[in-house]
Formats: sequence, C-alpha cells, structure tokens
Amino acid sequence: MNIAVLSIGDELLGGRILDTNAAWISGEVARTGGRVSQRGTVGDERSCIAEAVNRLSGVADVLVTTGGLGPTTDDLTRFAAADLIDGGVVIDDADAIAVVQAWCERVGLPPSEARAMVAKRPPSADFLSNDQGTAPGLRFVLNDCVVWMLPGPPSEMRSMFTRHVAASLCAGGSSRAIEVRASGLTEVQAADLLGDRLDRSRSPQLGIRVGRGLIRVTAQDLAGDCMQDAIDSAAADVQAVLEPWSLPVGCSSLADAVAYALRGVQWTCATAESCTGGGIGAALTDVPGSSDWFVGGFITYSNALKSSLLGVPVALLGENGPGAVSAEVVEAMARGARDRSGADIAVAVSGVAGPDGGSPEKPVGTVWIGISDAAGTTSRRIRVPGDRPFVRRGTIQVAMQWLRWRVDGVDEALQWEQPS
Ligand code: AMP
Ligand code: MG
Repeated sequence: MNIAVLSIGDELLGGRILDTNAAWISGEVARTGGRVSQRGTVGDERSCIAEAVNRLSGVADVLVTTGGLGPTTDDLTRFAAADLIDGGVVIDDADAIAVVQAWCERVGLPPSEARAMVAKRPPSADFLSNDQGTAPGLRFVLNDCVVWMLPGPPSEMRSMFTRHVAASLCAGGSSRAIEVRASGLTEVQAADLLGDRLDRSRSPQLGIRVGRGLIRVTAQDLAGDCMQDAIDSAAADVQAVLEPWSLPVGCSSLADAVAYALRGVQWTCATAESCTGGGIGAALTDVPGSSDWFVGGFITYSNALKSSLLGVPVALLGENGPGAVSAEVVEAMARGARDRSGADIAVAVSGVAGPDGGSPEKPVGTVWIGISDAAGTTSRRIRVPGDRPFVRRGTIQVAMQWLRWRVDGVDEALQWEQPS
C-alpha cells in the first residue's frame, strides 16, 4: 500500500516547530508493515493545501494530512477539502455542533462562534471523532485515494490516527515488519556480517540503521508478496548471523535482553555503580516487571562508600593500592554487591568519565567492569572514547551486554572479539 503524509501549517515552514507528526505517522505505518512513500509540507493557504492534497491523492492509496482543522481563521484545511470534493461548500453538522458544545461545557469553556467552525465539513466528507479536543477529523475519497485529515496538536492527532487510520491500514492486509537489534557492532561490521542478505532486490527486504546506540535491522515485506513466515524466518536468520551481539527477537533494548536472560535461568541480579551513578539500575528498572529479577543497586561514588557499603578493602583504594578504577576494586565491588544483596549475579563499574581525572595510565574513558556469580568473579577493562555523557552511556551498554552474555553462558572468546 502506497501511503503519503501531508503536514499543514505556516509554523512548520517557518521553522518555529518541528514536524513531529509526520515522523510519528511514518513510524506507526512502519510498525504495521507499511511504508510512507512520500511526505509533503504546505503553509496555511487554501489553494496550496488543495493542490497538494490533489497531487498526493493522485499517487497514493492513502493520504494522511495533519493540521489546519482548528477554529481560527488560518485553519483552512476543511475549505481546501471542500474545494476538491464539493465545489467549496461546507455545511454545519448538527451532531458535531452538539459534540463541540458538550466538550466546551465539560472543560468549562464558553461555546463561541469561532469554536463552532470545527463542526463544519464538506457534505461528502465524514467526520472522525476526537477524544482529546474539539476539532473532528475528516475522511473522504479523492482520486481513488482514502484521505484522512487529522488536527495538528500531536495528542489529538495520535489518538485519532490510532483509533481511525491504523485500524483501516491493518485491515488492508499489510504485514508486519520485524526489527532485530544488536549492540556492540558498528553499522559497517553488521553489514559485512549480513553480506548479500542486504541486497535491495530481496523479499523480505532488509534495512539497516543505527538508533539510540543499537544497530537495527528491519525485515519488511515491501513488495507485499511474502507470507508472515518468511518475515519471521528472515528476522531469525539476522538474529543468528549477528550473534552474540544481536538481542533476542522481540527484545527492544539491552535491558530487555538482560531480563530475558535472567528469566531464562531464574536468576536475580544486583549492581554496584560508580561512574554511571545508577544508570545501569535505571535502565534495568525501565523494564516492566523488573522487580522479579532486579534486587537493587549500590551507588558508591566515593571511596569511603565503596568500602563501607561493599566491603572494598581500604588498602586497594589508598595511595599505594591500584586505585578506584582497577580490576581489583571492581571485582571487590561486584563480590560485595552480590554477597550483601543476596543476588545470583552482580555487575560493577568504575571508570574515568571525564572531563577531568584522566592520567597517562588511566585516560578519560578508561572503565573497569566486574562481574560476580556463583562461578567466580572476573573483570575487564574497556576504553570508551568520547565526552562524559558518551562514556557513561557506553559503560551502561557494555555492562548490560556483558551481564546478559555471562548469564547466557556465551563463550568468553566470542564475547569480546570484534569481527574484522
Ligand atoms: P493546527 O491544527 O494546524 O492549528 O495546529 C495546532 C497546533 O498543533 C500547532 O500550533 C502546533 O503546535 C501543533 N502542530 C501542528 N502541526 C504539527 C506537526 N506537523 N507536528 C507537530 N506539531 C504540530
Ligand atoms: Mg495551523
């Protein structure tokens, strides 16, 4: 199915607001397996809106517009629609007027003539209910294309898209897209591993991109000729090829993958964090149901707290010891966190996040990660290049990656080896 999106509003063209509506709609369409093939933006001018709606409806099966349905004089979308389908005529819709009046009463606004404007529609367009505001949407067919006109405010647009438009897109028979995510590889490394699976002529087609620190490979039926099984097995194949970096299909974050791994063996975990200041615990507890497997974390920023809360020997932290950023200390932190929390496994991090505190032996970005479970305690040093937020985010990612690998029993040799 060929889907187009038209964003309407002077404020979009003037750069005063970002067009988040179009991006959101594209994302929702992709989630149902469809693809937005064209997007456009026009200002609040009746003839320009009509021209764009006419043009896009000529090339798309479905057109979604947002904006210009409000009660003010610059809201001209309904009139542009009327120009295209009903010779410029708009009528008062008695039912819609009643709905608008009821809404005004409910939120304590005086009913005004201006507000009644939103109850006008071209006679051959249907109204779409709006449960977040007063302006209904419009639906009509033009050039064999179903045109959905939604208001601009994102909360109204989203609710109406979900209730009215998405349901009809799914009914159109388009299939799902499946995204497989991976962490710890660059986009180029992932593409090399996938090889000719990325050929654009294949069906289902694979697409690769990076977002929020994860590689994302989408298997999607763009030609509309694949069975669901083919998409499922393409996703499973991607997951297998990108192991051990890929997350299990269905996991959207590393924290999800940690949860999946821990649930698989019925283990609990704890954290001991220095340079990440609780970021690992925050990421893990983002996962609904984390209380089943996350017992808690220690944020031990100072040396004193590392000793008093986790039992790290003072000698390790002193002048003549290896210092807070060292194998010995993260291992003692991990062991302490596991012993004192009663968790099955604990992960600990200590590093130099910068911008100060680096030295020739331990430059900014030097991080030690320790892990302790019933099989023993071990640690690794990583170097995360970048500024403070980057070092902290990178540390959180690597700590979670290692945690799930350890729980899954991934071969140590495989774990840290990068594909060439
Ligand atoms: P409108 O229905 O055109 O009067 O839009 C009302 C408000 O919705 C605008 O002032 C914006 O704050 C918001 N809005 C309109 N279009 C968009 C868009 N494409 N993306 C994000 N916000 C929008
Ligand atoms: Mg507007």
